[in-house]
Amino acid sequence: MVGDVPVGGPEPVVMAGPCSVEDEEQMVSTAKAVKAAGARVLRGGAFKPRTSPYSFRGMGLDGLKLLNTAKQETGLPIITEVMTPGDVDTVAQYSDVLQVGARNMQNYNLLDAVGETRMPVMVKRGLAASYEEWLLAAEYVLAGGNNNVMLCERGIRSFESMTRFTMDVAAIPVIKRLSHLPIIGDPSHSTGHWYLVTPVALSVIAAGAHGLLIEVHPNPDLAKCDGPQSLTFENFSNLMNQVRAVKGAL
Ligand code: PEP
Ligand code: MN
Repeated sequence: MVGDVPVGGPEPVVMAGPCSVEDEEQMVSTAKAVKAAGARVLRGGAFKPRTSPYSFRGMGLDGLKLLNTAKQETGLPIITEVMTPGDVDTVAQYSDVLQVGARNMQNYNLLDAVGETRMPVMVKRGLAASYEEWLLAAEYVLAGGNNNVMLCERGIRSFESMTRFTMDVAAIPVIKRLSHLPIIGDPSHSTGHWYLVTPVALSVIAAGAHGLLIEVHPNPDLAKCDGPQSLTFENFSNLMNQVRAVKGAL
C-alpha cells in the first residue's frame, strides 16, 4: 500500500511528476494536472544522482518541503529518491515511497538502511544489472524485515544510442514469474524522448506491469532535468487514456 493506493493489484498505478522539484508553482500545477488525468502517486526528485557534478543536483530539503506542499494540495502520496543512508530518516518524513535509483541499486548500505524502515521502497534496476542482481538488491530490503518492496524496470545499457537506455519489456513477465513483488515500468528514463514514452508505456502495460513511472513537466523545454523525455500535461492525459484502453483490452 502507498497511502491508500494498492500496488501490485489488478489496477495499474501511475506515478507521475517532474524529474526534479524546481519551485512551488511547478510542483503544485503538475500535481493537480496528473491527479486530474488519473495518476495516483506524485513523483519529484529532491536529491538527484546526476552523471555530471555540474548538472542541477536537486533542491534537497527545500524540495522535500515543496513535495509536501503539493501533497497537502492534492492528497497524492509522494515518491522521491533517497541517495544516502544518512538521508533516509529525513526523506521518510516527507515521502510515502523511498526510491532507490538505478545508480544506487548496489549501494548495499543504502539498501540496508531502507530495509530498516517499514516504508514502501521502489528498487530501480541498475543500468547493467541482471535479473538476479536486481532481485538480490531487493532481497537486502526484505532481509531487513521491510516487506514493502516494489521493483522498477527503467531500461538497461545496450549498444543503441538513439534511445537513452533500452527498455527490457521481457523483464516484466520474468520478474512476475520469479517474484511476488510488484513491477513498475519507467518508459521515461528508458527511452529519453517524449515521443517514445507513450508507445513504450503501452508495451509494458500490455506485458503485465503493475504500474508506470512517468516524467511530466508544465514546460518541458524549461525543465532543469530530463526535459526531452518529459510529457506535457496534455500528452500525459492522452497517455492515461491509451493506458486505460490497453488495460481494458487485456
Ligand atoms: C529518477 O527516476 O528520477 C531517476 C534518476 O531514474 P534512474 O535512477 O532510473 O536513472
Ligand atoms: Mn529523470
